Amino acid sequence: MMNLHNHTNLSDGRYPPREIIEAGIEFGLTHIAITDHYMTSKVDSIPYDGLLSYIEEIKVLSEEFQDTIKVLCGVEIDSCKDRTDVSKISFEDLSTLDFVLFEYVQNDIWNGMPLWELLGNRENIKCPVGLAHNDIGKNFSHTRYEELIAVLEANNIFIELCPSLRNSKLNKPYYHFAEGFFSSLSGSEVLISIGTDTHSNIKNVGNIHDAMDFIDRFGLEDNLITKIF
Ligand SMILES: [Zn+2]
Repeated sequence: MMNLHNHTNLSDGRYPPREIIEAGIEFGLTHIAITDHYMTSKVDSIPYDGLLSYIEEIKVLSEEFQDTIKVLCGVEIDSCKDRTDVSKISFEDLSTLDFVLFEYVQNDIWNGMPLWELLGNRENIKCPVGLAHNDIGKNFSHTRYEELIAVLEANNIFIELCPSLRNSKLNKPYYHFAEGFFSSLSGSEVLISIGTDTHSNIKNVGNIHDAMDFIDRFGLEDNLITKIF
């Protein structure tokens, strides 16, 4: 039971990290991650030089709650180069996170970077990297799923299932439009996380059940990223 995508008032979320963690406990989660925006001009986000103090703040909470829930620390990076100056990012600092999420990868509407460009930075980031709420069915409609899976495996890139209707079409989360991809994932090395992209609604912390049902339906329990945390 995980929720690995939550924003706090350290970027554009409403609640402080502690309240997100406490909500995670209330909803019976085993793993919760704080993943604030980092260095995007799109919304309030952690500034370039604020990353290490952010990590320190979450680490203190992680230790405080270690007997109750596993608290992980990540960030979400907007992959649009007009909004995020990737050249300014310290990959060494970034590598001290538990994982890094990239949003809008291969997303033309939001002007996200193509996957091949992310691969260029991937080797500099020494922690797991994931694609947040990606509309795989649309963004990779011209890629054979077997090839995409091979690239994700080779580059240790995980996929987030985001059940939040913030990231949906026709009132359904994006992953429902990529069933062909997910039905090919079982038996692969590609890891899967669940993250609801919590911002202003604390109930969203526990809103993981549609994704859990989806994982169950496609037999993806062995792909869950919690096995490495
Ligand atoms: Zn987010």
